[in-house]
Amino acid sequence: MTQLAEWPSSLMEAIKHFSDPMACLATVAAVKWPNGPACPKCESKRLSFLKTRLMWKCLDCKKQFSVKVGTIFEDSPIGLDKWLCAMWMLANCKNGVSSYEIARSIKVTQKTAWFMLQRLRHVLHTGSINKMTGEIEADETFIGGKARNMHLGKRVEKIHGRGPHGKAVVLGLLSRHNQKVRAYVIPTRRKPDIQARIRENVEQGAALYTDALKSYEGLAEYAHQVVDHAEKYVDGSVHTNKMENFWSLLKRAIKGTYVSIEPFHLFRYLDEQCFRYNERKDSDATRFGKVLASIAGKRLTWAQVTG
Ligand SMILES: [Zn+2]
Repeated sequence: MTQLAEWPSSLMEAIKHFSDPMACLATVAAVKWPNGPACPKCESKRLSFLKTRLMWKCLDCKKQFSVKVGTIFEDSPIGLDKWLCAMWMLANCKNGVSSYEIARSIKVTQKTAWFMLQRLRHVLHTGSINKMTGEIEADETFIGGKARNMHLGKRVEKIHGRGPHGKAVVLGLLSRHNQKVRAYVIPTRRKPDIQARIRENVEQGAALYTDALKSYEGLAEYAHQVVDHAEKYVDGSVHTNKMENFWSLLKRAIKGTYVSIEPFHLFRYLDEQCFRYNERKDSDATRFGKVLASIAGKRLTWAQVTG
């Protein structure tokens, strides 16, 4: 079984390490089958390894299968060497990595690279079933749309509580206790949309810090404190500075790397940015390992990706 210590620690080492098909296979097999490979059809462990094809054959039901079966790599004609390098780049490039960069780096078409990245982002989605507790910052922002309308739009939105035309609304929640963030695309920044997401994610009785937007009014089950940005941005511990910091990182990645994102796909980029933010204190190798550990049991077809 592949140990963490044997893993590459830089992109250069990753490229070298994963240029060996057996190393790729061992890496993926170790996370997919921690107790050794088993037949996906009958679960038998009586297997023979077909060295020339890099596949297993089940001695009981005769099924042949590769290490890609039942993972996000399933049905992909792209080799694991390319997949794992793309995974390394997405996990570790601070501002994200575009499909054009991936296409050039691993020699696939841009369309293929784009699909690979969407699958990898699907893996990065870590929907936690646990509610957030302690001190929580909640804030919302707009992504996309036309920048030149921003100024007027901001004023309109301040008055009506609606977003500027063509922009997606994103709600963010940040736990100060573990410094982890969650972000969601929501239909509008009206009260029902905002409050439903907060109640879904935050434990009753938690301390909730927001700005003075009316949509946050009435969250009575929380110790809710408001800082009115018309007056000041920080009032003791009542502020949303860490959430604001996340927004600036997110916007830098979107502007610098992705240029524009269709609203339909925005949630995947949020998953990506949340993952890197939440795991930012890890080493590159550990972050890569965390992505890799999530590949089993996840699949995403072209139809699902493109809607
Ligand atoms: Zn079998």
